[in-house]
Amino acid sequence: MSYDVILRGGHVVDPANGLDEITDIAFKDGKIAALGADITGPASREEDATGLHVLPGLIDAHVHVSGWMGGAAGHNMLALAGVTTALDMAGPIESVMDIAAATGTGLTLACVDYVRPGHTVSTTNPQMDELTEALAKARRAGAVGLKVLGGHFPLTPEASARVIELCGREGAHVAFHAGTLETPQNLRGLAEACELAAGNPLHMPHVNSYARGFEGPPLLEAQQAADMLLDYPNIWSESYLAPINGNSAKCSNGIPESVATQRNLTAGGFAANREGLAEAILAGWAHIHVSRDGLTRLETGPEALAAWQEAETNIGMSFYVNPSETTIPLAMLKRPDGSFAIDALATDGGGLPRNDLCERGLALVHLNALTLAQFVQKTSIAPARMMGLGTRKGHLAPGADADVTVIDLDARRPVMSFGSGKPILMRGEVVGSGTTMIVPPEGLDAATSRGLTPLIAAPGSFHPTRHPAPSAD
Ligand SMILES: [Zn+2]
Repeated sequence: MSYDVILRGGHVVDPANGLDEITDIAFKDGKIAALGADITGPASREEDATGLHVLPGLIDAHVHVSGWMGGAAGHNMLALAGVTTALDMAGPIESVMDIAAATGTGLTLACVDYVRPGHTVSTTNPQMDELTEALAKARRAGAVGLKVLGGHFPLTPEASARVIELCGREGAHVAFHAGTLETPQNLRGLAEACELAAGNPLHMPHVNSYARGFEGPPLLEAQQAADMLLDYPNIWSESYLAPINGNSAKCSNGIPESVATQRNLTAGGFAANREGLAEAILAGWAHIHVSRDGLTRLETGPEALAAWQEAETNIGMSFYVNPSETTIPLAMLKRPDGSFAIDALATDGGGLPRNDLCERGLALVHLNALTLAQFVQKTSIAPARMMGLGTRKGHLAPGADADVTVIDLDARRPVMSFGSGKPILMRGEVVGSGTTMIVPPEGLDAATSRGLTPLIAAPGSFHPTRHPAPSAD
């Protein structure tokens, strides 16, 4: 038997198949072909993984790789972080597809397109017929579903509920950044979102961002958020660990367009207008995303102010608003049945500089807050199942996609990664190219016309609930 790749001597951790041992692993034709001690070749490529851990490829279920949020650097940053598959959590889908075609690093990517007044819908209260058309258009453009931007660009509660109902009926993925015109992005917003889902499948992103301790003790808010989700088996959730959030710094008519940006300025003691934002940048409360050399960095002070002005305010930004008193417990908390209260660990990264699954997620392993197998559960198994990829990704049995992330556990960083058997990251350098785009059947042309490799997701295959997901394969 000849193979394309053999990784030798790594410690393979594949909890879905009960594997936790030092063994060789071989790939052929994009799939896992063999596991075992001393696999005999030949192989086109052999890599020594001695002293390293070999995990199912990291799947980040919440990233941003559109022009809207630092997308040009996103594929590079995800690859550097050891991620092999990701879900863009806003679109716009055309920008995500264009950037994937232009800057792909070998990732597999899917996208939910935003429902945004003045952009994809006309008002804050779109009716079902307008939403139906918006979903059809998003699907033709390659999106697997829709994202309600709630806390940033809220809709009425009724329209938010309609989006979720529509996607449930159409078998489209739907995510809801909690918050409506009536309720802010906090625990009350989370409670409202859970109610508005009305039993339909829902992906609840970044649970930590509803429990920031703005209104009560952060530890208590984390527990309350986890307890709340217990009552909703139709909801699949993720949280992230980074201290920074991600906002838009764009202003219209003298105020930040995003409600979340306004709220965070107020939280820092600044006026929620353009002048207040300028002061916050100078004072070090607001951090502007400056992209340079394929990376997005956080900057404050006069140079950041200049970058913001040069972009005519249309640039990403962050505030340090996520206390570790909530981010760490939310990553750890369990339900009474022993499963995780928050299904996955994601980053809300991509073009935003917080692709920290290894850096911070593995820090939890060092602290015994998670076992390495639990880390794999939250960063590969759970998101693979949610994305309808549970048969082919999230594990390393022969026949599965040869998606692998090889980590240096002591250094908390990825060393190598492979997507469908092709190298993405080698010894810390990004070597991958192209993008495999997960699209609905209607989105096939949008992918192939851009030179993207399509992976068709049948309606209903993405299944953001805690019930076992049907397989897409
Ligand atoms: Zn996000």
